[in-house]
Amino acid sequence: MITDGDKVLLVDRRGKRYLVTVSDGEFHTDLGILRLGELIGKSYGTSIVSHKGEEFRAIKPDINDIIAKMKRGPQIVHPKDAGIIVAYAGISPGNTIIEAGAGSGALTIFLANAVGPNGRIISYEIREDHAEIAKNNVEFAGFSDRVEIRLGDIYEGIEEEHADHIILDLPRPENVLPHAVEVLRPGGYLVAYTPCANQVHRFLQAFHEYRAHFYKPRVVEVLMREQEVKKECIRPKTTMLAHTGYITFIRRL
Ligand code: SAH
Repeated sequence: MITDGDKVLLVDRRGKRYLVTVSDGEFHTDLGILRLGELIGKSYGTSIVSHKGEEFRAIKPDINDIIAKMKRGPQIVHPKDAGIIVAYAGISPGNTIIEAGAGSGALTIFLANAVGPNGRIISYEIREDHAEIAKNNVEFAGFSDRVEIRLGDIYEGIEEEHADHIILDLPRPENVLPHAVEVLRPGGYLVAYTPCANQVHRFLQAFHEYRAHFYKPRVVEVLMREQEVKKECIRPKTTMLAHTGYITFIRRL
């Protein structure tokens, strides 16, 4: 049931999507004006008709809709990379995760969704402006109950004593290795997302000193080839996102 204040994704006949917050106000589109209050009390999947007679379907937005529409600060982690992080680190409902840096909060939102209402994400962010963006985006996604954006430098240390996983998207993940040894539970993962090969190399060189505490590293790069879907032809899109980052997984023994 849709209630006042809920976020709703409206889809028009062209497939254009609008993320709106339901209120008794109006919403203007080039296909006419919608009275959003008409959605209150209806079920998701219902339609709303503009003053020009155009129909919009109203569905419940998911985290991808939220991330697509939210304010961006630094470059966000792509869903293909967030997906493999959640899958390979075995991130589960109820997990406590230390993250850094929060950046725009996109990965934070994927993680918050995966750990569920009983999980916890503490996300360090060194820049005040980025922390502010991340905090607002987490709130926009409805995950403030389980996420804390903490202004601070994770290289200096981790305040928490225990974590199931540590997920890093920052320039020098090797600086977090000594803290990870203290904080990670046996079986938990340290995951480092880094765009450059030399960052992976530097991380693995530093890792050598800590290898007694971890299972052997696994480094992956995820290539995703999306298909173009037309009525008469389904084929790979001409261009492809060639590179985002390398993802290194190390598991605490
Ligand atoms: N994964 C994020 C983007 C992170 S961008 C997303 O999906 O939205 C990298 C962030 O790390 C930047 O905001 C930067 O300010 C922060 N950062 C860099 N070094 C840091 C450190 N030592 N401690 C905490 N945050 C750091």
